[in-house]
Amino acid sequence: MPQFYDTPDFEASFTYHGNDLGVVWSKEKAAFRLWAPTADAVSISLYSGGDPAVSDPLKQIPMNRDVSGTWTAQVSGNLNGVYYTYQVTRDGQTVESCDPYARAVGVNGHRAMVLDLASTNPEGWEHDTDPHAGSAVTDAVIYEAHVRDLSVHRSSGIRQKGKFLGIVEPGTRVSGHIPTGLDHIKDLGITHLQLLPVFDYGSVDESNLQKPQFNWGYDPVNFNVPEGSYSSDPFDGAVRVREMKQMVKSLHDHGISVVMDVVYNHVFDAKRFCFNLIVPDYFSRVNNGVYANGSGCGNDTASERSMVRKYIVDSVSYWADEYHIDGFRFDLSGLLDIQTINETIGQVHKHHPNVIFYGEGWNLPTTTVKTCDLAVQSNAHLTPEFAYFNDTLRDSLRGSVFSAAAKGYVTGSCDFREQLESCFRGLCSWCRSPKQTVNYVSCHDNNTLFDRIVLATPNASFEDHVRMNKLAAAFYLTAQGIPFMQAGEEMLRSKPNPKGGFIENSYRSPDSVNSIKWNLLKQQPYRETFAYYKGLIAFRKAHPVLRMSSVYDVLSNLIPIHCLHPQVLAFRATGNVAGEPADELFLMFNSAATAETIPLPGGTWQICINGERAGTQCLATVEGSATLPPISAMVLVKGNLK
Ligand code: CA
Repeated sequence: MPQFYDTPDFEASFTYHGNDLGVVWSKEKAAFRLWAPTADAVSISLYSGGDPAVSDPLKQIPMNRDVSGTWTAQVSGNLNGVYYTYQVTRDGQTVESCDPYARAVGVNGHRAMVLDLASTNPEGWEHDTDPHAGSAVTDAVIYEAHVRDLSVHRSSGIRQKGKFLGIVEPGTRVSGHIPTGLDHIKDLGITHLQLLPVFDYGSVDESNLQKPQFNWGYDPVNFNVPEGSYSSDPFDGAVRVREMKQMVKSLHDHGISVVMDVVYNHVFDAKRFCFNLIVPDYFSRVNNGVYANGSGCGNDTASERSMVRKYIVDSVSYWADEYHIDGFRFDLSGLLDIQTINETIGQVHKHHPNVIFYGEGWNLPTTTVKTCDLAVQSNAHLTPEFAYFNDTLRDSLRGSVFSAAAKGYVTGSCDFREQLESCFRGLCSWCRSPKQTVNYVSCHDNNTLFDRIVLATPNASFEDHVRMNKLAAAFYLTAQGIPFMQAGEEMLRSKPNPKGGFIENSYRSPDSVNSIKWNLLKQQPYRETFAYYKGLIAFRKAHPVLRMSSVYDVLSNLIPIHCLHPQVLAFRATGNVAGEPADELFLMFNSAATAETIPLPGGTWQICINGERAGTQCLATVEGSATLPPISAMVLVKGNLK
């Protein structure tokens, strides 16, 4: 069958271009359309509830063969709140399946639900917009968090622990005065909150949330439906939709844009995934009966097939339209073809030109079903509106992810000067402009920044570990590109292993490992590190010269200084950038264990960032030269501070 799918005849006959797949609801009728070109018969089963453990059938309605491999049926009456599945007969076998285009589902996503989507809109939804619409992508500061991690720790003060609505509880405190949750994130000053998967995934049993369960959620079941375990009632299909929209609305009201982590590159269970049940293995790359496995999750998505591509384009557009999502982080974009990426961006940008797109452009061993280019870093020039995570910057600063003991720049290595110099200017080898590089030193994958520093320098003091952390932050938060951080990095997040060492892959570790421990903010080093990150972000926002969009601007306005100590990096930035208040900036980084003195261009310089503090205020002035203490950054401003 897979070979047959990829013939020109199949594509020509069975590519459907309409926008009515799934169910189109009105008070008078529900119109169903399913793409099932290889089916011999299809019918719809209606149920009063969404739980397959309960026998509550209403009726069965046969579907009729229609254009381009689709099947249709209309059911009169108001079906809002009715659940349904498809009975698909193909290969002499009848299977029951959820709708790939389901917009709502019952518990654990087995049955789709007909839903009046407008009824789930929060108040004021029609006026809701991206608070950062009109900003450049390089103006973004992205904060990556798991829904559960943010609220689940006892010290969070958040009532709706582990829920969509827990993310937007205002006024929560630890020790009565230190902000947690939403207030903490606002205080930090980030622009975009990126949530680990919030579509319906399979690894948490929604029917038994009393049982301790945790998963990152990189195992998609229903791509167009929110995850049930994050709602207050996973059994009622409307609740998760309503609550996720409410979360987005509240975040927008608090000035925070929302990015979804989307995982189109594989599914939870390829054999049981609804699309593959209906059209056997169409969604996946299968060669001689073997699923391609570049993802390591067992089944790579055949994005290069026309109806998979359409599915991805439709799905991302739906989240942008219906949920007002402001950005998409593509998990393993390196497994998806560039035409799918570019068509998705083009379609979303027709109505939402502000939406940002980026992903993991790693080279992975997949086998496509037809010749195509994949969305990997080296194809960045073919996906100009798509940014990629910058592992060169990450590994140069903190050490390779493939060896926990390997040193990077902040842990004392002299080997990465050249890479860091180009990364700081947003110009590493694959990157066509600062708009295409996501600069980071920690995300949910691998060790946290602080743990990684400890592993590379086990004999250094806690104070030095904190200095290394701050130095890494000062570097990537003043670098050209799009800064990104894992939640809690700003308070020395750690994932200690109860058996010793640290957990490097906490995808299903308990809350005790993954939760953000807000009570740490009661201790000075954690609070000071938070203040440092907050100051770095404020400084970045105050200086457009740190957020340039074009290579030409970077080459003209940001000059590296050479002939310094091998562990010192320095850059001089002009004030000749639109909106830049300063006449000039001078940025220096010293990872050596010794203090280093650096000659300065003439005039009086104001120190805004040093090893201890960061912000938009002048901490002190220097002339002639500046001395950087061991393991510290220093950023100087000449002229106006803001
Ligand atoms: Ca689920």
